[in-house]
Amino acid sequence: MQIVRHRYDAVVVGAGGAGLMAALNLAQAGVPTAVLSKLYPTRSHTGTAQGGIGAALGNMEEDHWEWHVFDTIKGSDYLADQDAVEVMCREAIDCVYFLEHMGLPFDRTDEGKIMQRRFGGHTNNITGEPVRRACHAADRTGHMILQTLYQQCIRYGVQFFNEFFLTDLLLTGDPLDPATRCCGAVALEMRTGILHIFHAKAVLFATGGFGRIYKVTSNAHTLTGDGCAVAWRRGIPLEDMEFYQFHPTGIYKLGVLLSEAARGEGAYLLNGLGERFMARYAPKLMELAPRDLVSRAMYLEIREGRGVNGKDYLHLDVRHLPKEVLEKKLPDITEFARIYLGVDPEKEPVPVQPTAHYAMGGIPTDVHGRVVVDEKNTPLTGFYAAGECACVSVHGANRLGTNSLVDILVFGRRAGLHMAQFCREADFPPLPDKPEAMTMERIRHLLNNTDGKWRVGQIRRALQEVMMDKASVLRTGDGLRECWDKVRDLKGQYAQVRLDDHHRAFNLDLIEALELGYLLDCAEALVASALNRAESRGAHYREDFPQRDDANWLKHTLIYRRDKGHKAGDAEVEFRYKPVVITKYPPQERKY
Ligand SMILES: Cc1cc2nc3c(=O)[nH]c(=O)nc-3n(C[C@H](O)[C@H](O)[C@H](O)COP(=O)(O)OP(=O)(O)OC[C@H]3O[C@@H](n4cnc5c(N)ncnc54)[C@H](O)[C@@H]3O)c2cc1C
Repeated sequence: MQIVRHRYDAVVVGAGGAGLMAALNLAQAGVPTAVLSKLYPTRSHTGTAQGGIGAALGNMEEDHWEWHVFDTIKGSDYLADQDAVEVMCREAIDCVYFLEHMGLPFDRTDEGKIMQRRFGGHTNNITGEPVRRACHAADRTGHMILQTLYQQCIRYGVQFFNEFFLTDLLLTGDPLDPATRCCGAVALEMRTGILHIFHAKAVLFATGGFGRIYKVTSNAHTLTGDGCAVAWRRGIPLEDMEFYQFHPTGIYKLGVLLSEAARGEGAYLLNGLGERFMARYAPKLMELAPRDLVSRAMYLEIREGRGVNGKDYLHLDVRHLPKEVLEKKLPDITEFARIYLGVDPEKEPVPVQPTAHYAMGGIPTDVHGRVVVDEKNTPLTGFYAAGECACVSVHGANRLGTNSLVDILVFGRRAGLHMAQFCREADFPPLPDKPEAMTMERIRHLLNNTDGKWRVGQIRRALQEVMMDKASVLRTGDGLRECWDKVRDLKGQYAQVRLDDHHRAFNLDLIEALELGYLLDCAEALVASALNRAESRGAHYREDFPQRDDANWLKHTLIYRRDKGHKAGDAEVEFRYKPVVITKYPPQERKY
């Protein structure tokens, strides 16, 4: 297998909002920076973000970043680290202006200020009423972020390696040994099948989420948790994996997202009886309650027989909104309903169901984006993470809408700035002997296993089904145990997977098999963590433990993989716990 070596001070894996923001800040600081991405950068998933970026600009009505802090902490069911939330909400404002100055075409008020809209869980802290905090560019905000950042990265000379697929992280030793440094990454060039070793002083993972572990999801096929799984396999823990967000309004059966922006502009949710059922669950905020509450309410309505026509969906109704709002502020959403369902939202309500959307958990980091490896927050020198693959933790048990775009911008920038400082002072650590060894072993196994009896599609489908059935919005201990057994069986089958394509060049069969391995690891970490957490908090709802239990569970989960070997199915897991940082807001009951 041909191998090519590169040397860059900083290597960023992932070209979504988090990766590009980090790379831009590195390049502006004059640090030689490479970005690797399995997708062409502007096809990254940030581009699908619709509704907006939360920042308390106060352009449309009174607002304060401290109110944004409180809403985020309350929304997180008090699991977010409050010091990190303060950093995020304060710096969100500056990040929005940074993007504006870089050319992002925000929607404007008549006076020329950045326009803002309402979003779930964002409130005026005095009245408790929804507040306009989401800065938007129609319902194509993420698309505009990516275009803006990519152009600026090109301008500042970032080197892009597009369609390069991350396969491994390189360390000088055991990640839990404080002397260990991160020294690079390994990637497969998809076009040629050549392996590339990137030797670096610092590496940042910004590889996005893993919604594809579920059958119904808003996430693209490429969101397979690659960065989380690669780090986990190298002995780095994952944090709070049990908290996975379901967004209330996915298109029925497909999961394609109809943004909360619709409800922010005034859309209703109706059950089969035509009732605005949210009045029973969140009388004040109604459809603008946080996503965990709305999704759970929808599952309960359906289970109690109030789905539409007795089926497992409900209605999103925008018929009462002015035509101008639909055309100017919600054009994508309107079009999606027409294209995917053949439903004209101006005339009929749209069938929706909760859809797997966002990973609150991921690779643990501090507020500088440094990956930390234990309950004392010990950093792994030279390794950084940002965006959806990371867990700072600012979302705790449930993220508020618009806070992911803030997270990727604020912590992407902070990570880039910290890396720049680190790269100026640090030397290049040595590479291990044969840095490509793990990748080659895995690829050879997949390509040579000609008599394996399982196919990638079969295993992936079975995984997505069992995760949707047993580890989604409503969970039980028995269901999770069943799910765990199934995921372990599927890992066994994965060891005997057979590919059709045995070539090196542009082998998408191989890429999908590697991605399936990552999905299985993320699912395993999620299910084990969910089974372990015997309480209900935010998006993690255990019917057998329906109450939040602050006495025993006001803490973050760290899950470690303890390998008995490199073969799938061999891993054991271990838990440790990290205290939640509380600054000003002691936990209270959440009422909306
Ligand atoms: C439909 C939709 C709408 C949303 N709307 C909003 C919204 O309005 N507001 C909000 O705050 N949030 C929203 N979100 C969430 C938010 O968009 C994402 O959480 C966020 O954009 C993630 O950004 P990221 O930079 O972490 O990852 P991504 O943008 O997903 O980028 C991941 C990058 O990693 C690369 N990568 C992954 N694996 C590999 C690998 N093995 N090798 C090399 N490269 C790899 C990919 O190529 C890509 O460049 C929405 C999400 C969805 C799905």
